[in-house]
Amino acid sequence: MTAPGDNPIVLELREVTCSYDTGSPAVMGITFSARKGEIICLLGPSGCGKTTTLRAIAGFEPVASGEIRLNSNVVSTTGRHVSPEQRRVGMVFQDYALFPHLTVRDNVGFGLASATADDRRGRVDEMLSLTGLTEFAGRYPHALSGGQQQRAALARALAPQPVLLLLDEPFSNLDPDTTERMRVELLHLLKSTETTAVLVTHDHEEAFAMADYVAVLNNGKLEQFTTPETTYHLPVSRFVAEFVGQADFIPGTVRDSVVVTQLGTFPVPPDYLGTPEVVVMIRPDDVHIRENKDGDGTVISRQFRGSEIIYGIRLGSGDFVHSSEASTRFFALDSKVELEVIATHTVLFDRKA
Ligand code: ADP
Ligand code: MG
Repeated sequence: MTAPGDNPIVLELREVTCSYDTGSPAVMGITFSARKGEIICLLGPSGCGKTTTLRAIAGFEPVASGEIRLNSNVVSTTGRHVSPEQRRVGMVFQDYALFPHLTVRDNVGFGLASATADDRRGRVDEMLSLTGLTEFAGRYPHALSGGQQQRAALARALAPQPVLLLLDEPFSNLDPDTTERMRVELLHLLKSTETTAVLVTHDHEEAFAMADYVAVLNNGKLEQFTTPETTYHLPVSRFVAEFVGQADFIPGTVRDSVVVTQLGTFPVPPDYLGTPEVVVMIRPDDVHIRENKDGDGTVISRQFRGSEIIYGIRLGSGDFVHSSEASTRFFALDSKVELEVIATHTVLFDRKA
């Protein structure tokens, strides 16, 4: 999925800080970059600074410090601010912001004013065909479904061949079935056109499904910037661990090169060899249940999810963990079980931090 690592860097943020008049900065010291053809997802809870970051890239917000580069040119820094029109960045807004009085064809052609009439018609036809809207070209936005409106917004944003496409929570107005379909369509469209994109979402499943790299934001700061797999398996903080999926934490004690816990011993990553009191992150997919009436665990909850069942288990110590089991594996509530933890990575955090 990842675009070749030797593709040129299209977007670069260096220590970007943005402030509104109202007080502490909305985003602080954000640094990441995107190569041509890559999809970056900005992921985090409401208010963490995703939209502000996107607007700064688009040129709608100035930076208080740091700099933003597009194709190696500085477009934002203190004392220099290239206007949004000059950045050649496409934007798909949360509500699509289609022009209600223009047909789909005219919406898509809107950004092509400087092209000749022939070029413009050709490009619009190409975009309509690419997004499956050819037969809807003469319709007005109000006569389109949510998914079709989104396609029209995408076609409009991509028509002028932007160097970068920005999407702010593009699926938030669609029902779950349409969202699922549009994610697949969007991914295909972006990859087949080698479009570099930054997509904002608060949904980790969406970020994992779409992104080459995920930027997790918390309270205006970038906590981690890496692949979806590494974000999930090797989160750098408890915040990231919990934001991208179910995570439980059990106490452990580091002795020599292992960490000893109530669920067994695990190898210790080098950075934690000097930290005696830790917590170990346990993901439901690492925990396997075996029936055992003398077991240390008690099944206290069961959540059927179709393809899996998530069991909640209370350990003898009072700590809790979750286990993901195949949906055919049935354990009754209150039954005693023993647990086996098989984790490919041990993730530790300082217990005192
Ligand atoms: P997100 O998109 O992750 O929900 P935002 O970037 O919209 O977050 O907001 C980040 C922070 O900046 C929040 O604390 C928000 O209240 C504040 N903020 C956003 N827009 C403005 C604005 N126009 N004026 C003042 N504060 C703002
Ligand atoms: Mg937002």
